[in-house]
Amino acid sequence: MRAEDRLPPPGAAVVVQVFSLPKTGKWTITFLSEADGIITHWDRKKSVACAGIDQCPMALHRTRQVFKGYASAMVKRPAQNGTPVCWHPCVFELTERCWEVCSTVESLCCTRWTFERGCGSYGTQEVYGEQIEPFVGPQPFRFDFRPIVERLYRTRDIAWGQVPPFGERVVLLPVPVA
Ligand SMILES: [Zn+2]
Repeated sequence: MRAEDRLPPPGAAVVVQVFSLPKTGKWTITFLSEADGIITHWDRKKSVACAGIDQCPMALHRTRQVFKGYASAMVKRPAQNGTPVCWHPCVFELTERCWEVCSTVESLCCTRWTFERGCGSYGTQEVYGEQIEPFVGPQPFRFDFRPIVERLYRTRDIAWGQVPPFGERVVLLPVPVA
């Protein structure tokens, strides 16, 4: 096994946390699941998960909606303090832009990407993502990201299955000419 493919040893207790892309650096991610999305609102200085239009307080639901996607993944951790390079399980948080980049593949599970933040042409925060070599070999392990996201937002009332406001993609299909 190449050093850069090192995984936590079998049986190791690993704390899985939500990983949002740091402001700097290029990060390599291997997805271990498909992604699912939620809507968040900003309430009293913190981000809260939308419980869905039927359960979300109306005043809150009318505030700005920010999309967040989540997926089980592994992030490649650089060597630090004597710890070698290794893949660490995480719940990867996809911004709207990240989701858009990733939606170019039909199935996200077991694909490998690099992501980095950058500045867009209008000074906006952008995320650049690129799919790199396909992930080969057996899937190392599985875990459900939803309970970890529930813990992050301290609620189980989360309306999953949301898509970013860029909306459903329009796919044009050729129509047979009569
Ligand atoms: Zn809401």
